[in-house]
Amino acid sequence: MSLLTEKQREELKTAGIKSAYVNETCIGCSACVAISPEVFELDDDGLSVVIQCNNYDDKWVDDAIGACPVDAISWK
Ligand code: SF4
Repeated sequence: MSLLTEKQREELKTAGIKSAYVNETCIGCSACVAISPEVFELDDDGLSVVIQCNNYDDKWVDDAIGACPVDAISWK
């Protein structure tokens, strides 16, 4: 899940900027939000979504990937 549209994701990719992605296995534990609030927030359903950002620091996303208990986060 992401607040980014596919078009925005493609634009970032074209500009050489990777973005994070949260898949449907998210259980809403909020670990990623606690670790990297610059990248993730919980939506109205309590599940993680990626915040729109022009520059995703690798560490913000990598740390959240390492902390996610269900491997729901990846680079895209
Ligand atoms: S750490 Fe994983 S399971 Fe927990 S809210 Fe983030 S994406 Fe969802």
